[in-house]
Amino acid sequence: MTDSFSNLSLAPTLARAVAEMGYESMTPIQAQAIPVVLTGQDVMGAAQTGTGKTAAFSLPLLQRLLKHENPSTSPARHPVRALVLLPTRELADQVAQQIKLYAKYTQLRSAVVFGGMDMKPQTLELKKGVEILVATPGRLLDHIEAKNAVLNQVEYVVLDEADRMLDIGFLPDLQRILSFLPKQRTTLLFSATFSPEIKRLAGSYLQNPITIEVARPNETAATVEQRFYAAQDDDKRRVIRKVLTERGIKQAFIFVNSKLGCGRLARSLEREGLRTAALHGDKSQDERLKALEAFKQGEVDLLVCTDVAARGLDIKDVPAVFNFDVPFNAEDYVHRIGRTGRAGASGLAVTLVSPSDTRLVGDIEKLIKKKLDVETVQLDSRPQASEDRPRGRASEGRHREHDPRDVLDAPQERRGGFRPAPVNRDPFFQKPYEPSASETAPSWEPSGPKTVRSAISANIKPKRKVAALFKSGE
Ligand code: AMP
Repeated sequence: MTDSFSNLSLAPTLARAVAEMGYESMTPIQAQAIPVVLTGQDVMGAAQTGTGKTAAFSLPLLQRLLKHENPSTSPARHPVRALVLLPTRELADQVAQQIKLYAKYTQLRSAVVFGGMDMKPQTLELKKGVEILVATPGRLLDHIEAKNAVLNQVEYVVLDEADRMLDIGFLPDLQRILSFLPKQRTTLLFSATFSPEIKRLAGSYLQNPITIEVARPNETAATVEQRFYAAQDDDKRRVIRKVLTERGIKQAFIFVNSKLGCGRLARSLEREGLRTAALHGDKSQDERLKALEAFKQGEVDLLVCTDVAARGLDIKDVPAVFNFDVPFNAEDYVHRIGRTGRAGASGLAVTLVSPSDTRLVGDIEKLIKKKLDVETVQLDSRPQASEDRPRGRASEGRHREHDPRDVLDAPQERRGGFRPAPVNRDPFFQKPYEPSASETAPSWEPSGPKTVRSAISANIKPKRKVAALFKSGE
C-alpha cells in the first residue's frame, strides 16, 4: 500500500510542493486514482474526505494543466480549465487551500467561490482569470448568470462529495452547471457512497469511467471506546458533563441531528459555564471559521455540530465524540466517531440513547455488525426544571419528530429545495486517512500509553441489552 510519489514522474514544480507538504507515500486512493487521472480517463471514486482524496484528483489534474501555464497578465490567457464542485463552503475552502499549496510553484491560478460571502471580491478574482475554479453549486450559478465565470474551455470537472451534494438537493444546479461545459472533457466523481442516485448521475455525465474503490469496511477503529448511555433528553447534558469531568476530557465534538437543536444545545452548555461553539449551516461563513479556529486554538472546548457542518472538517482528532442525538443514518455514526481515535490515538465515543432511539441503535448494530449494550448512568441529583428545560419546549429532542425540515442541515445557498437524506445509503468505503507516525500528536494527547478504558465510573451500572432496557418505554 505504500507507494512513493517519486514513481509518478510528476513535474518538478509539483513534486517540490508535495515534498514540502511532508507526504512520504501515497494514500490508497492516491495510489489508485493518480495514474488513472493522468491518462485523462473519467473516474468514479469511492472515497471520503480524510483519505487524501484532494491530492488524488488535484495533482494529476494540475500535471495535465501544466501545458497551459503562462505568465501573461491577460485574463484571456487564463480561462477556467478545471472546475471542482463541492457541497459546502468549508469543504470548498479546504480543497481550494490544498490546491493552492500543490500549485504554488506553477503559474496556474486557482480561486474559490462559495455562498454567504460578498460576491465582489470573488468577481474581481474571476475577472483576472483562473485555470482552476473551486465552487459550491449555488454560488457558481450566480457567477455564471452574472457572466463572471465562463466555462466553455473547461477540460476537467470534479464532482466531489457527490452523494452529499445530492442529499442537499443540488442535483438541478449540477445539471445546469454541467450543461455549460464542453462535452469533450474528463469528469471525476468522488462519493462516499455509490447509491442508485449516484450511479444514475455517473451514467448521465461520465464516459466509461474507471471505478476506484478502496477497501470498504464499515468498521469503527479499534482504538475508539464506544459507549452507549441511556438518557432522557433532559438528562443528556448532565451525562456529558459527568463523563467530561470523570474522564478529564478537555475537548469534544457533540453531534446533534438538527440545526435548531445545535444552537440550542450550544447555548445551554455555554450558560452552564462550558466553553462551547455551534457549527451548523445557518451560521455565517465568518462565524463558522471563527468557531473552528477557536476550537483548534483551544479557546473553545466543545464544538456542537450537525453532520453536514462537520463533514470533512480538517480537524484531525479529538479526544471524545458525543452523539447527543443518535444519528438517523447509521453511516453517520461511523463518520462521527471516526473523528476520534485516529492514527492509533485512543478515543472515546459516547452515544446518548433515549427510549425512542431503539430502532436507530439497531441500525448501527447491523451496520457495524456488533452487539451494542446500553448502560445506565447514575446522576447525582435532579437539576432544577428551569436549568435543564429549554423555555417553551418539553425537551430538546422533540423538534426532531415534529419538523422534518429541521433535520437536514443544508447550506443557505441551497436551491433545490428540501430532500430528506435517502435512508438506504451504501456504507462508506474507506477508513479515514491515518497520518504518518512522524506527524506531531495533537496537543491534547499526552505522550505515553493511554488507558481510557480503565477510567469507567463507579456510578455506571453493569451493561444491559438495548431491548431489555427499553421494554417498558417502547
Ligand atoms: P483530504 O482527504 O484530501 O481532505 O486529505 C486529508 C488530509 O491528509 C489533508 O490534511 C492532507 O494534507 C493530508 N494528506 C493528503 N495526502 C497525504 C499523503 N500522501 N501523506 C500525508 N498526508 C496527506
